[in-house]
Amino acid sequence: MITVDTECSSCNGSGIYSGFAEQKSVAVVCYTCNGTGCAKITYKPFEKRKTKRGIVKVFEKNCGYGLGVESLGGLSYYEWLNGASFKGKETRDVVCPHLHDQRINLTGCKDVRVGQRISECPHFKTKSKCWAEYDLKG
Ligand SMILES: [Zn+2]
Repeated sequence: MITVDTECSSCNGSGIYSGFAEQKSVAVVCYTCNGTGCAKITYKPFEKRKTKRGIVKVFEKNCGYGLGVESLGGLSYYEWLNGASFKGKETRDVVCPHLHDQRINLTGCKDVRVGQRISECPHFKTKSKCWAEYDLKG
């Protein structure tokens, strides 16, 4: 752990404070830093990503469905640690490309009405076609 001195944000480092109750040209000692103007911050510097015990599989996202080791998609923890791509490893059995990434807009996405849930999209049952379009777009 590393502790560093930083400027007290309550008094902007002055050690004194003038608020509503203090008349012009009057201040009180800052309660936060006790008049030092200094606030200490303690932190642990980042060294490297740690591994986590007991994890078998990693998913890019959870779009609101229960995910388990048996769920389709995802990478093995080992693959993920080694930088494998999630492309094609989305949970395609339960989400469409738009649910997976709201920035994605495919041909069928225009058929979702305002206020309608994406899972109520008329193309949701044939979302594999949407995934195929998604894959073509790269
Ligand atoms: Zn202060």
